Amino acid sequence: MPSELSKIWLSSPHMGGQEEEFVAKAFQENWIAPLGPNVNGFEADLEDYLGGTKNIAVLSTGTAAIHLALVQLGVREGDEVICQSFTFCGSANPIMYQGATPVFVDSEPSTWNLCPKALETAILDRISKGKTPKAIIPVHLYGMPYLVEEVAAVAKKYNIPVIEDAAESLGSTFKSQNCGTFGEFAALSFNGNKIITTSGGGALVCPSTQAKDKIVFYSTQARDNAPHYQHSEVGFNYRMSNISAGIGRGQMLVLDEHVALRREMHKFYQEIFKDIEGIEVFTEPSEDYFSNHWLSAILVDPKKTRGIDREQMRLHLETFNIESRPLWKPMHMQPVFANMPYYGGKVAEHLFENGLCLPSGSNLSDEDRERIKAAILELFKN
Ligand SMILES: *Cc1c(COP(=O)(O)O)cnc(C)c1O
Repeated sequence: MPSELSKIWLSSPHMGGQEEEFVAKAFQENWIAPLGPNVNGFEADLEDYLGGTKNIAVLSTGTAAIHLALVQLGVREGDEVICQSFTFCGSANPIMYQGATPVFVDSEPSTWNLCPKALETAILDRISKGKTPKAIIPVHLYGMPYLVEEVAAVAKKYNIPVIEDAAESLGSTFKSQNCGTFGEFAALSFNGNKIITTSGGGALVCPSTQAKDKIVFYSTQARDNAPHYQHSEVGFNYRMSNISAGIGRGQMLVLDEHVALRREMHKFYQEIFKDIEGIEVFTEPSEDYFSNHWLSAILVDPKKTRGIDREQMRLHLETFNIESRPLWKPMHMQPVFANMPYYGGKVAEHLFENGLCLPSGSNLSDEDRERIKAAILELFKN
């Protein structure tokens, strides 16, 4: 019976083997704290990986990274921040933490990410209402770089800083430049389902040493320089632990391998679907784009599949104990953000209604792939 087969997950943690050595060292040296050699080492590894021009602070989560970027940019109650609507809630929630208002903007069809035209419309309309947005949060969703140059041009024209949400795109590049180096700040995530994991964790890529120092200050309860505990500002307890950072150091050794394996999964789906009418595998729009293909995603057109829609496909895979998931539900469609402004058309809504993420892990076996292929082919046979 298919249901007795072990579960094939969308994206599960994949250890490289050396993580435990870094963690064991932390135990031996009693660095069981939100500081220590692994914290510094992991930051240095990430800085190297991204090209060495940025300063990186590792934090408890990617959401915390976006939050601290907003804090540092001075976003306060009553302010407005533009956010890509088609994303995970971790991009938008920190705007609410600051008492600010998220202004959601639609995607464009080539990268599924922030539409520069809708972005400019939104900025002009908010300015006409008396409020210049304090920041713009575009996302490299599923590892696909957003329209980096177009978004940067609009941001520059109105002098608004970009907080790049690179939570899903470590290892992706645009014109050979790493995602995570395009914004004033960039957020990374090492949650359990991401391309590398520290069980839970994140990082903020900062433009300077001073900016990083300030982020570390905010992430460790904003302690002033004094022998006693002295505070002039409200801080946060957001620093990454030395244990988690040890896992991160081990994961950095296999990051490029994981990117290659995820990209192989994407190719695997391109191969399966090349002869199936009505299924489009989400792929880079040109050679300028290099996606880590964190998750492989497809669009299903029921008019061309003789009625098979994405939900039918999801339920079919479930009977084979294969996990798949609809694409992110846009933030402007979420009950919690129902009253927030939204600019754009129905691109994100269309993606949500017709898109599906398929198992994409770097740790899927040949046997797993055979099962996935057989299940898909069964649904689309004859
Ligand atoms: C995972 C993710 C986040 C948040 O990261 P956490 O580490 O889970 O807090 C933010 N944005 C996007 C697009 C994500 O996928």
